[in-house]
Amino acid sequence: MKKSEKNNEKPLSIPGESLDFIRAIIQEDLKTGQYQGRVHTRFPPEPNGYLHIGHAKSICLNFGIARDFGGFCNLRFDDTNPSKEEVEYVESIQEDVRWLGFDWGERRYYASDYFEQLYEFALHLIRKGRAFVCDLNADEVRATRGTLTEPGRDSPFRDRSVEENLDLFTRMRAGEFPDGSRTLRARIDMAAPNLNLRDPVLYRIMHAEHHRTGKAWCIYPMYDWAHGQCDSLEGITHSICTLEFEDHRPLYDWFIEELGIHHPRQIEFARLNLTYTVMSKRKLLQLVTEGLVSGWDDPRLPTISGLRRRGFTPEALRDFCSRIGVAKRDSIVDLALLEHCLREDLNRRAPRVMAVLRPLKVVLTNYPEDQVEELEAVNNPEDPAMGTRTVPFAREIYIEREDFREDPPRKYFRLAPGREVRLRYAYFITCQEAVKDPLTGEISELRCTYDPATRGGDAPDGRKVKATLHWVAAGPSLQAEVRLYDRLFQNPNPAAEKDGVHFKTTLNPHSLEVLRDCRLEPGLKEALPGSRFQFERLGYFCADTVDSRPGQPVFNRTATLRDTWAKISEKQEEGK
Ligand code: ATP
Ligand code: MG
Repeated sequence: MKKSEKNNEKPLSIPGESLDFIRAIIQEDLKTGQYQGRVHTRFPPEPNGYLHIGHAKSICLNFGIARDFGGFCNLRFDDTNPSKEEVEYVESIQEDVRWLGFDWGERRYYASDYFEQLYEFALHLIRKGRAFVCDLNADEVRATRGTLTEPGRDSPFRDRSVEENLDLFTRMRAGEFPDGSRTLRARIDMAAPNLNLRDPVLYRIMHAEHHRTGKAWCIYPMYDWAHGQCDSLEGITHSICTLEFEDHRPLYDWFIEELGIHHPRQIEFARLNLTYTVMSKRKLLQLVTEGLVSGWDDPRLPTISGLRRRGFTPEALRDFCSRIGVAKRDSIVDLALLEHCLREDLNRRAPRVMAVLRPLKVVLTNYPEDQVEELEAVNNPEDPAMGTRTVPFAREIYIEREDFREDPPRKYFRLAPGREVRLRYAYFITCQEAVKDPLTGEISELRCTYDPATRGGDAPDGRKVKATLHWVAAGPSLQAEVRLYDRLFQNPNPAAEKDGVHFKTTLNPHSLEVLRDCRLEPGLKEALPGSRFQFERLGYFCADTVDSRPGQPVFNRTATLRDTWAKISEKQEEGK
């Protein structure tokens, strides 16, 4: 056995009851000795867009199965359509799979690697009388295909001789005919109830340059003709794909049987759909090309690169994929569950810091003018090993504008005239006066006093306050831009497009709010692009990987702290 054929990352040890239906099938195949005990899967993206969280589900499934059963998983680019595919996509796909934590080792393939072999397979079908060159154009092929209730009509070219077919097909390849003038079609059954079996097109003429094969070909295999044969050639044992391919399975079976080659078992599962999200590559491409988002990695998109830029962790995405599991029936998953997985992970790992998004200046009138103290703050109450840091405290600080009300309503416990609150890790302060801009009437600063006896945030006399505020010292603070993201769509099911409502019309106009004058604790100056923090009381934030500059990070809000999913599950528990 070659070294690369041995994969002993994890032994086969899965408790029976936790098997999803796909793993149960594979387990059974192993038991009955199918495929000589081999398990070999693949993740087969078409490089015509960036990967999204739906692909993450498929990646976790395919690579996860290979890991769990001690098998292999290939990365294969199904690059049969040169007009929509680009090298940029190939690269982003690899980056995303790796970032998610999976490794294809040396097993990266392209459908285009098999173009010659697929061509040979086509010749084989022609020789068997199972394929013919058809001179109908695309519209005519469509028009003669029939419907679900009516059979199709035979092509007038269906009974060409093997010799004529071989001659024409060879000349198609040689570039003698213009685009769209001819196709190679399988010769199956125009009356088959399954439309996929009505003499489907196998090859079309396209004088287009391919990102890998260049100008070598001017005929390109259709996806359906390539996909199953590629799986077979790679020795895939379990071809896992989404439900829409269930109706294609009889066709794939037909090809494999006619060619007499290795027959993988195809298993279909339901696609992931998410509320408030569109997942189709076509729609995502539209959002990108029409400038409705900033690019494929816009932090509001469900693309893996968007989620990464937003601050999601691979651990959170993998956890999400394992919680949603796999099923045979289509459903739509609550976006709140995805965010819940993220919060659980970040709560454990993200260091806490203080940041003020909408600053209101507070002057502590009894605090010495030039004094700056370094106060100790806990980095993560969930994890004592993360230790402490110091934050500067001074006479002038900022608090959040919404943490002060001149005229507080009944249940508002934060700062108000005459009221005392705690500044986290610092002191109790009492508001003496709100100073207003004489022109606008807007509050421009607060004048407060602090109690030196409460250093660290506790009153030795045991007196209590009802609110603890976050803050940053004004002088040493870091001024920064923070971007607040919200869901991209207002409609929970934007893809439904009911009643002619186009998905773009339900875009949420408030999905991005940019705050340019935020004040952050000075240590954040060193935050590396991509690093994640909890801004106390505000949410989780991540230093943007694109727009941050050395010493000048820009932050994206990854998620707020409000976990609606936890609330939903609590209510369900209570209801029991
Ligand atoms: P296209 O319409 O361009 O084919 P696609 O979403 O099917 O788009 P592929 O690149 O063909 O994209 O997908 C690669 C793999 O990911 C396929 O096996 C596909 O079944 C799977 N996949 C795509 N979308 C989802 C989804 N929403 N949930 C689960 N798996 C998905
Ligand atoms: Mg597809």
